[in-house]
Amino acid sequence: MLRRSMLDRLNFELITPTAAIQRKLHGARAKCLQRLIRLDMPVPDTVALSIPLVRAIAGGQQPDMTTLLGHFGSWPVLSVRSSPVMPDWGGPGTILNIGMNRTNEAFFASKLGSRAAAALHLTFIRSYAVDVARLDDEMFDIPDLTVDKALSAYEDETDEAFPQDIETQLANVLKSMARAWEGTSARLLRMSKGAPEEAGLGLVVQRMAFGMGKGESGSGVIQFINSDSGEAQEVGRYKRQSQGRDALSGPHDDTMYLTRDERGPSLEESQPDVYAELCRLGDIGRTGLREEMQIEFTVEGGKLFILDAINTPRSARAEVAVATKLANDEIISREDAVLRIEPRALSELLHQQVAPKAKRDVFARGIAASPGAATGKLVFDSFAAQTAAAQGEACILVRRETSPEDVRGMHAAKGILTERGGANGHAAVIARGLGLPCVAGATGIDVNTKARTVTGADGRVFGEGDVVTLDGTKGQVLVGAMPMIGAAIDGAFRELLSWADEMRDIGVRANADTPEDAELASLFNAEGIGLCRTEHMFFDEDRLTVLREAIFAEEAEDRAAALSRLLPMQRADFAEMFRIMAPRPVCLRLFDPPLHEFLPSTRAGIVELADALDMSAREVQARVDDLSEVNPMLGMRGVRLGITVPEIYEMQARAIFEAAIEASAEGAAMVPEIMIPLVSAKREVEIVKSRIDAVAADVMSETGKKLEYRLGVMVETPRAALRAGDIATHASFLSFGTNDMTQMTYGLSRDDAGRFMSDYVKQGVFAEDPFLALDQDGVGELLALASERGRHVRSKLTLSVCGEHGGDPESIAFCRSLGMDYVSCSPYRVPVARLAAAQLAI
Ligand code: PEP
Ligand code: MG
Repeated sequence: MLRRSMLDRLNFELITPTAAIQRKLHGARAKCLQRLIRLDMPVPDTVALSIPLVRAIAGGQQPDMTTLLGHFGSWPVLSVRSSPVMPDWGGPGTILNIGMNRTNEAFFASKLGSRAAAALHLTFIRSYAVDVARLDDEMFDIPDLTVDKALSAYEDETDEAFPQDIETQLANVLKSMARAWEGTSARLLRMSKGAPEEAGLGLVVQRMAFGMGKGESGSGVIQFINSDSGEAQEVGRYKRQSQGRDALSGPHDDTMYLTRDERGPSLEESQPDVYAELCRLGDIGRTGLREEMQIEFTVEGGKLFILDAINTPRSARAEVAVATKLANDEIISREDAVLRIEPRALSELLHQQVAPKAKRDVFARGIAASPGAATGKLVFDSFAAQTAAAQGEACILVRRETSPEDVRGMHAAKGILTERGGANGHAAVIARGLGLPCVAGATGIDVNTKARTVTGADGRVFGEGDVVTLDGTKGQVLVGAMPMIGAAIDGAFRELLSWADEMRDIGVRANADTPEDAELASLFNAEGIGLCRTEHMFFDEDRLTVLREAIFAEEAEDRAAALSRLLPMQRADFAEMFRIMAPRPVCLRLFDPPLHEFLPSTRAGIVELADALDMSAREVQARVDDLSEVNPMLGMRGVRLGITVPEIYEMQARAIFEAAIEASAEGAAMVPEIMIPLVSAKREVEIVKSRIDAVAADVMSETGKKLEYRLGVMVETPRAALRAGDIATHASFLSFGTNDMTQMTYGLSRDDAGRFMSDYVKQGVFAEDPFLALDQDGVGELLALASERGRHVRSKLTLSVCGEHGGDPESIAFCRSLGMDYVSCSPYRVPVARLAAAQLAI
């Protein structure tokens, strides 16, 4: 039994509607051809060679040529094409006209004309010489090349006669294609496209339909959509007296368009019957294959043949348009449509991108920290960025690394480039929130802020005003302005995502720090705000100064004065966010300012603050030195500030409660969620909770209004994860801050990791940057353990992730597997998360 099935697998099979053709065994092309045959398309006779057979051929075995050729009748002339399991794994190129020799050239001359027969023969000699005998095509650079001249050139070069019998020709073609697949560069190339190391190749042998000869003869390619937009449109080329994909190598004088075109003749006009038949078959193909197909066809003496079909190559935008249209035409289900779109590809639609075919001159590479592309003049500080913006000039802000002082400049710029910083560092997080392209941690560059220059990895120097294009999707900086394709948040995009929302079973909220972000979150249909980093509400110049005053104050009185100025600002922002989001929940995280991000770092910043505080620059510098920490990310952050300077959190709690009362009086009722950051001990929660409860009681008695709120804890230190059971006794929700959790679990600075991360990933130390893709083994185990311990104590405990991983499809799958209620990510990643979540539930 086993022997018999082994033999079958080593065999070849004429493709008929009922033949046992399988994609895994014979490759995608063989399977697709069978589908076309089942749809009654005029496909010339085709035989599929299985992957094990092709492997055996590479190893020196020869298939039974007599039986193989027996499938093709007398005077066979054949082509051989690759049939890998996935079409984009590539494979050796097609070889045409196998079987041509002196004898049948004479025979075909009588049928097709002597010119056509000679051309077919010559094409074969050349491709056999190059692809099988591995000779150089330049040897055929002979004036007035004829078959005779080509054959003697071949014989001179090889000292052998050109094989005349089809058995030898075909056997050698098959062997050379089978071996080409095994070559190292072919292997590496396909592995880079996701093929497994052991991926095999199937081959298909097809009877040639000649696009040359008497009557209307030619070949072409047609597709039925516009590859950029996905809209219905017949596009393609046809060339008389040609073969294969010749028509695409044009346009030549004799190339025709498919449809009427003012640029030249068209098949539609010259051969309306052929054109109509092509359109009819295209329609059948679309319905039958449930895909938009690009069809390769040949016309032989007026008769149409379909040789091959592939999924029409298309942009991400077209992919969404096609999937939605196929579902609306009831050709595929909505679930299928949702499953067809790679979630990450959606970010291509949300931002402008460099045109895919544009030629790139890359002068720097770094982490693709925030997607999209922008062109602008280089500027080296916030002031220059703001000046450029005021003059209506697009600019790209370049910094060694960014800090809150740069946020104004980031708002003004079209893109951000930093020499330092990781995937979840300051620049990356802010840029993602703003929807700006960002290349961070471009370690090969040298930024000289004084000279206002940036030196690329290759030594080229660019100065202020030089125009560059930043590609945050690919992590590249390109010289000059690049052609772009626009964002495409269109009807198809919205429709597809509305289907996804019906299918998914895990919530998707947005991280939104300001009312503008909340508008964006709402636009992307986030189900609420999962994280508002309230310290980010203070990036505006005047507010930053007041916040600094509060942080700088040494006396309680001074602090109270600064806080009383912050209170109305916070209240107004919170009320606005509640109005935008109600009745959807808004989760406000109490201040978590890593102090180094909020202290002035430049001379100008110090002078500015000295002005505001009415202190001397020296005094300000002394206070900065006083507050500076050796390890600010492990220092006076988050709840530690809340415990030691209680007035700050109390002011925030008051602002939240007063805003909730204000918004609900206007009909925007909701239960605000308050979250405590960087907790590591239950007692921290107890202390903060009792103070917040006291503020709530005060506000209720002052206003006579009833207040409800939910208090939660951010789990972002390993200890908080381990003690989640304890902590959950005081928290109605836990939200995992996986940025800090990753930083602390690995002991890896999120702001500095960019310096060596690419080496780590290249050397396989980490499979991926753990700041981008959640480390399920390590950090994930802490999440699992904390979820279980938390829910053990409080079964209805709401669980979520609000670190940047919340927008990463694989990380979302992991969160869902732990039974989390929602993920929260920056607004621009919300659509990606919605789609990824739906795919998990289908
Ligand atoms: C986190 O640490 O994952 C988080 C969401 O907080 P932040 O990025 O503000 O530290
Ligand atoms: Mg954090």
